Amino acid sequence: MTISENLKHVRECIVKEHAKHDVSLIAVSKTFAVQHIEEAIHCGQLAFGENYAQEGAQKVQYFREHFPALRLEWHFIGPLQSNKTRLVAEHFDWVQSVDRVKIATRLSEQRPSSLGKLNVLVEVNIDDQDTKSGVAPEQLHELLDAVSTLPNLHLRGLMCIPKPREGEEEKYVPFQKMRVLFDQYRQEYALDTLSMGMSADFVEAIRSGSTMVRVGSAIFGARNYKNHL
Ligand SMILES: *Cc1c(COP(=O)(O)O)cnc(C)c1O
Repeated sequence: MTISENLKHVRECIVKEHAKHDVSLIAVSKTFAVQHIEEAIHCGQLAFGENYAQEGAQKVQYFREHFPALRLEWHFIGPLQSNKTRLVAEHFDWVQSVDRVKIATRLSEQRPSSLGKLNVLVEVNIDDQDTKSGVAPEQLHELLDAVSTLPNLHLRGLMCIPKPREGEEEKYVPFQKMRVLFDQYRQEYALDTLSMGMSADFVEAIRSGSTMVRVGSAIFGARNYKNHL
């Protein structure tokens, strides 16, 4: 299957599900070369997700230089360390993995005013995983409060990366919990984005109320992490 055929298939699945609300598709291009991204752009895909600050910034720079007229949208979706916040604040349009006040504060301070506000999602550790990033649901309200006051950030919503599950019914469990949290805080913070669903579970995520899915391998094929910069 080609990237073009894969994209068409993913889009058809999304359209089939999203009768009740709009769902945006982020093509997760981490580890893939700019040529693959260009192929997706040729099929009309303009929003891309990257996990690594350095690799992502290089790709953003490449497209700024070679295709300055293209209105691409870059989402940083990986774990973010303090020493990488400047790179991210200077290159990306969205950060989906904000889970600490410290990181949010640095992103706000380091955001160049010429780029406008940085859109952010707060990542929730919905499965209480030790190794994963994300704020605990019990601490979510406090973090939303802090992030919403930062001048150069635009708080848009919530994001999660649930642990992998085999059974279809099982996949709904974390998404339904996220939906409850989203509905709980939606009005108070004027949230409009619930980012959940990847290649293996985006249909279940959409059925649970996701407004943004992040799909990598179902579009670009299997990743080779040796290629990550
Ligand atoms: C890699 C990644 C994805 C895409 O995963 P696929 O299973 O390839 O669709 C989505 N979200 C995040 C945060 C990721 O790191």
